[in-house]
Amino acid sequence: MPELPEIDLVARQLNGLLKGRMVEKAVLLRAKLAPSTTPSAFTRKLNKQKICGVGRRGKHVLIEFAGGLTLLVHLRMSGRFMLLDAEDEDPKFAHAIFYLADGQRVVFDDQRHFGLMKIVETNKLASSPEIAKLAPEPFSPEFNVDQLFSSLKLSRRTLKEFLIDQTKVTGLGNIYAAETLFLAGIHPSVRANRISRPRAERLFAAIKFTLEQALKMSKKGKLDPRNINGNYAPENGRWQVYDREGELCEVCSNAVKRITHGGRSTYFCSTCQRR
Ligand SMILES: [Zn+2]
Repeated sequence: MPELPEIDLVARQLNGLLKGRMVEKAVLLRAKLAPSTTPSAFTRKLNKQKICGVGRRGKHVLIEFAGGLTLLVHLRMSGRFMLLDAEDEDPKFAHAIFYLADGQRVVFDDQRHFGLMKIVETNKLASSPEIAKLAPEPFSPEFNVDQLFSSLKLSRRTLKEFLIDQTKVTGLGNIYAAETLFLAGIHPSVRANRISRPRAERLFAAIKFTLEQALKMSKKGKLDPRNINGNYAPENGRWQVYDREGELCEVCSNAVKRITHGGRSTYFCSTCQRR
């Protein structure tokens, strides 16, 4: 599942390709992709709508239209956008199509069928449940040690589960959460409310550093307009602990371990990361 830096790249690339362009016709081919609307309402609302920009909040891509609507998109496991020419065939899992004025079209393709779209009024976006429940953006002033520490105090879940919960911290998924905890030197199974203030400070710095580094890499990246997906850039793929079970920790040379939290793998070094 793409995490914040990957979605940031998707949004930036879509913005560059689509800003100022007109959607002549929007077609929802798989109704469950946008469960809060019907295919006919989807078409009626988005036809003849000019795209004024594409941004992001948390892991949601936000396609804003000049007429006052925003299309909220979550790629989930395998959703991707494809900018295709008139002569190109539709891909196998085309779940929504946006026909542009000049014959090109943007197809939302989703092999695993987990993607989600929702049309919201732009001026009510902040209060829509998907957005309202998110923790502050990690690079906003609202996200700070005090905010993180008080949020930690209210949770009895493990730190790993806490970090990937978008209502607690926005932007981290399985990969960056593991890397953050390694950097902070904290064991992933520690309960959130047991974290001391000095450790919360280390954790805060590690979240920012991990996301900053990944964003820096993603800003160098460029996606193929025909395959705008949330995959990790290959240069981002050299993790210190993630997906390295049995390999040697680069700091202490002990083997990286794997445990599961809520059914998902967590990788860590039991020497470098203390309870
Ligand atoms: Zn180690």
